[in-house]
Amino acid sequence: MLPIFFSPCGNLSSHRNHCIGRTKNIMGPHVEHVPSDVKLPSAIDVAIVGGGIIGVCTALYLQKKGLSVAVFEKGQVAAEQSSRNWGWVRVTRRDIRELPLSIESATLWRSLKEEFDVDTGYVQSGLLYMTSDESVLDNYHAWLKKARDAAGDSFDTREVGPAEISNLLPGSKVSFRGGLYTPGDGRAEPQKAAPALARAFQKLGGKVFAPCAVRGIETTAGRVSAVLTEHGSIACKNVVVAGGAWSRLFLGSIGVELPQLLVKGSVLRTEPIEGGPVIGASNKQFAFRKREDGGYTIASGFRTYADITPDAFRLFFKYIEALKSQRGALRITLGKRSWDELIRPRKWKLDRPSPFEKMRILDPEPVEKSIATGLRKFIETFPHLSHLRVAQQWAGYMDVTPDAIPVISEIDRIPGLFVSTGYSGHGFGIGPAAGALMADLVTNDRPSVDPAPFRFGRFTDGSRIVVDAGF
Ligand SMILES: Cc1cc2nc3c(=O)[nH]c(=O)nc-3n(C[C@H](O)[C@H](O)[C@H](O)COP(=O)(O)OP(=O)(O)OC[C@H]3O[C@@H](n4cnc5c(N)ncnc54)[C@H](O)[C@@H]3O)c2cc1C
Repeated sequence: MLPIFFSPCGNLSSHRNHCIGRTKNIMGPHVEHVPSDVKLPSAIDVAIVGGGIIGVCTALYLQKKGLSVAVFEKGQVAAEQSSRNWGWVRVTRRDIRELPLSIESATLWRSLKEEFDVDTGYVQSGLLYMTSDESVLDNYHAWLKKARDAAGDSFDTREVGPAEISNLLPGSKVSFRGGLYTPGDGRAEPQKAAPALARAFQKLGGKVFAPCAVRGIETTAGRVSAVLTEHGSIACKNVVVAGGAWSRLFLGSIGVELPQLLVKGSVLRTEPIEGGPVIGASNKQFAFRKREDGGYTIASGFRTYADITPDAFRLFFKYIEALKSQRGALRITLGKRSWDELIRPRKWKLDRPSPFEKMRILDPEPVEKSIATGLRKFIETFPHLSHLRVAQQWAGYMDVTPDAIPVISEIDRIPGLFVSTGYSGHGFGIGPAAGALMADLVTNDRPSVDPAPFRFGRFTDGSRIVVDAGF
């Protein structure tokens, strides 16, 4: 039976009617339920557009500060990227500009259970990057040196050799020359973490409305004064756009040009299986982590796919550096999304259904070839697990900025409008710290992490776009 959404208006709509790209019997992963609040408030302090890990964490930390906050989610909380990712919470090999946020986030993940009484499935399991390629080893070494220069000994990554890697990967029949290992890294369960945090937010008095798309904002004398949703408008002084893959479309409709493109990653999960490694690990060919249910999440560690879309042409020159850094990893494709985006309006009337209501959940087809490669390499490495059974596969679109770090920023020319998006494939792990940072920006409190690298203005003030080679 298909999952059914509860709508605050009493509409019932089926998941499948609002998904794209589904021709086979493959569905996104099952995501824990968050009950929707029913009665829209007439006024709130902060409206959050998007119920992924970023929107939910921002809401939670704002509510904790005593503000009145509501999350508006067009589909289901965490049904897009935030439930489809590998579940890695890592400091290892972060872009150096993101390192302080990653270190702060690791601390927050460890304390979420106690602070908010939530079960996110977080385990400090340790993560390993391993290789036998000399040039990659040099790259690991260079990253660690840069990271130590930037953050001293506030993280515990270290270089490891073949013997230690064998101990970390029991049963491995492939020997690796070296790697980077971070015992303090870990994993959480993407299908339960953001929903659990959303329910904790509701317990503190916050409101979650889903499905409830935000069509636009209203301004008075140049500053934010309301959000306009499919179920009515709500007065508010602040709006945080945490719309993941949709942020560019949303912001573009109100005249804010955010450079953002989408790349697709594909993933599989196995049935529970005994005798495999407990840490998460990755090299160029595969990546995996042990799941709380006893299975593994497995993917190709390298390959991503980007569709040719009108935005790809519009933004081409801004992404040249990013394209160079992804040489060999990115495959360009022409598919259904190319056509969908060609005919999709970029502006709409606010009293009519918007593109956000037409596609409740972005649910792309996984790329079989990419999944098969990841699985084959996993089994070649751990032949004693060759009897594993694949339970499910899915894909997700990651929203990527030209420099592959997020925008966590106020939009100066529209006071009260904030953006937290463009997590470029890293947003699950840094979600809690990104939420706390955005909460501090909204309330104008001193943030624990410097927000300067994440300012929106870097894309508009002529700053040079720098892509970190370590990423
Ligand atoms: C295959 C894959 C593997 C990954 N692995 C990792 C990993 O191991 N570790 C890691 O840290 N990160 C990983 N990521 C990246 C991570 O999942 C994302 O960076 C993170 O989830 C982004 O969260 P978000 O809240 O910004 O976006 P999303 O989770 O996509 O949430 C945005 C939400 O906004 C809603 N929305 C948009 N517009 C509107 C509107 N107008 N009105 C109402 N709602 C709206 C959408 O429906 C959506 O639910 C991976 C991603 C993928 C796809």
